[in-house]
Amino acid sequence: MPADPIPFLDLVTPHAELREELRAVFDAALDNAAFIGGPMVQSFEREFAAFCETGHCVGVGSGTDALRFALMAAGVGSGDLAVTVPNTFIATTEAISQAGARPVFVDIDERTYNMDPRRLAEYLEDECCVDRASGLLVSRKLQMPVRAIVPVHLYGQPADMDSILELAARYGLMVIEDACQAHGAEYFSKKENRWRKAGSMGVAAGFSFYPGKNLGACGEAGAVTTNDPELALKIRMLRDHGSSRKYYHETEGYNGRLDAIQAGILSVKLKRLPEWNAARRAAAARYRELFAEAGMPELAPFEPEWAKAVYHLYVARVPDRDGLVRHLASAGIDTGIHYPVPLHLQKAYAALGYGGSDFPVTEKVASQILSLPMFPGLSAERQGSVLEVLTRFVAAGSSL
Ligand SMILES: *Cc1c(COP(=O)(O)O)cnc(C)c1O
Repeated sequence: MPADPIPFLDLVTPHAELREELRAVFDAALDNAAFIGGPMVQSFEREFAAFCETGHCVGVGSGTDALRFALMAAGVGSGDLAVTVPNTFIATTEAISQAGARPVFVDIDERTYNMDPRRLAEYLEDECCVDRASGLLVSRKLQMPVRAIVPVHLYGQPADMDSILELAARYGLMVIEDACQAHGAEYFSKKENRWRKAGSMGVAAGFSFYPGKNLGACGEAGAVTTNDPELALKIRMLRDHGSSRKYYHETEGYNGRLDAIQAGILSVKLKRLPEWNAARRAAAARYRELFAEAGMPELAPFEPEWAKAVYHLYVARVPDRDGLVRHLASAGIDTGIHYPVPLHLQKAYAALGYGGSDFPVTEKVASQILSLPMFPGLSAERQGSVLEVLTRFVAAGSSL
């Protein structure tokens, strides 16, 4: 092990820098003993809605809660299908299943790793048909209506939303964005001729503030953003046992509220988020240059001209990935794989009936993707060390 190991991420430094401000949040909460809801939650909700350029934000207990409540409030439930991708974290599909619906997968684009709108179009056109009686788009095989599309802005890269929104409009489907890795990411909409923030383009979006996310709490937290005031109200009820007034319950709901302390912490950290995201983008640009200098530009992740990614993860594509992981580890370089097993091949989803060649692009990239160290304080020097070890290993071995 070398003298200076390189971590995959650094959660200690940002909290050390903000220690006094974070402690003040805790002191304020102790002073008024408002631990759930209250002014700190309301302030953060206003600030995060403004950051995402949406009319409303509702703080909830986690990103999973956020997605589940967004789907439920939008009316996606028992007997419905929701289309998403197999290359994502399981929380995307847990939210769909736990809302009562059934996930359906379409394959990803080989360059962006996100939902391929061409595969989505094929699914909707070839595998579904409009039911005369209900007017709904129905899966021919499952005889269930498709109600929603859940694109994931994975790794902090926005999905191709113009195409997805156009298909959704054509077939009368709702779009719920999984923005859990994409706080601050932007998408250039050609249709609207402007940049749009992740989380502002669908009917609603779910964000996670799990500590390792670009904006992370000091515990569990999440939020829904939406421009629809009625949807926001429904989510406020769902997170609080189906009530908008204490002990008067219009429906059954959940215990899915945001802690005041977490909200206060998120307000402190949100002020730093633009700077942290810019540092991640700068680090991504440096990695890209280093890959190009080594004559291996194709290993760097692709960022379309319509995207401003926030690099929650920096995902390279490499030959002999598992050998490289071991080699980097022996040089003290920590890496990750996001995600090693696509969802359609997970034991948890055996009952969905997918097989080992249903999503060839996802399956192919799953064995090649490698998440390199990426965090706002990552130094150029350490990036140089990572790429030196990596490119030397690749140059000595096989090609992609
Ligand atoms: C983190 C994450 C979630 C879930 O968020 P939690 O806060 O952990 O519940 C959902 N989807 C994606 C893509 C994520 O990365």
